Amino acid sequence: MARILIAVVLVVLGTARAAARQPEAGAPGETLVTLPEELVSRLRGLDPARPAEYFTLGEEVADVYQTPADRQIAQHLFVLAFELDRRQGGTARLAGSACMALADLATLERDRKWLWALARAVDPRFQRTGWGEDDRGATRLDAYRAATVLGLVRSGDGVAAQQLLKEPGVRETIRRYERLLSESGDTGGLRVIESEAQRWPCPECANARIVKKFGTNPPEYRLCTNCGGHPGPKLSIAQLVAQLRFESRLLRGIQRSWSAQIAADGGEPIRDPEPSELAAALGVDPAAPYWRNGAWVKAPGKP
Ligand SMILES: [Zn+2]
Repeated sequence: MARILIAVVLVVLGTARAAARQPEAGAPGETLVTLPEELVSRLRGLDPARPAEYFTLGEEVADVYQTPADRQIAQHLFVLAFELDRRQGGTARLAGSACMALADLATLERDRKWLWALARAVDPRFQRTGWGEDDRGATRLDAYRAATVLGLVRSGDGVAAQQLLKEPGVRETIRRYERLLSESGDTGGLRVIESEAQRWPCPECANARIVKKFGTNPPEYRLCTNCGGHPGPKLSIAQLVAQLRFESRLLRGIQRSWSAQIAADGGEPIRDPEPSELAAALGVDPAAPYWRNGAWVKAPGKP
């Protein structure tokens, strides 16, 4: 599913870029390669045994491209450099740089972030450069504490919930994904949680659920009329389901869940960087690394 969506996103991205560079929609040239003969001849001379040539040629094409077809060739070259380098054990150290080059060609911020994340995943040299540092997800501890806060508030343990909310990262985690708490995807979930945490424990029975009847000796007890024996906020079934689903997502690692990201960020997914998905996402067949007669093919053929 994720893979299909990535492909769709990238196809849309490619189309948008094509439209931007081609004011006359549908004009001839969409599939026209306009590269200088020198570059085309180097395309024909590429050999998968030398992945670095794919990368450097990709950079040159990216510098001069004019049509969507040219741009696609640059993209294709970077993906092939990425795949060929990885197959050779990363000796040429091209994979991370190829991702960065692809990120430069991307027009959507989320695609760029995904490519930056992929660069970091495949090449530690990109980990300290600050690329996309804002996309760090919640840590497992933050997520666990955030889920615990919800459970505490639900059972009316407001004091413990408020204490946990003061731990670093907990409020931020709930706020970041709070849209998941609302049926309509609205914000404000954290505010509700915080105000409920302040309302409980039950001001009448202090969560004992029963109170002593006035003037009885030996004491007789009645059910607390404030909380009705159930301390904590009154939730509809839908609200309870939303809370439980939210907790379940937190505990399964919400920061890695693409669908949760879409729901929480309103369609700004942060995809897991998965090297094996790159070629498919960009529609490149890594088994066809030879450029012959205007197409990528599997066998070099006769010279
Ligand atoms: Zn009570």
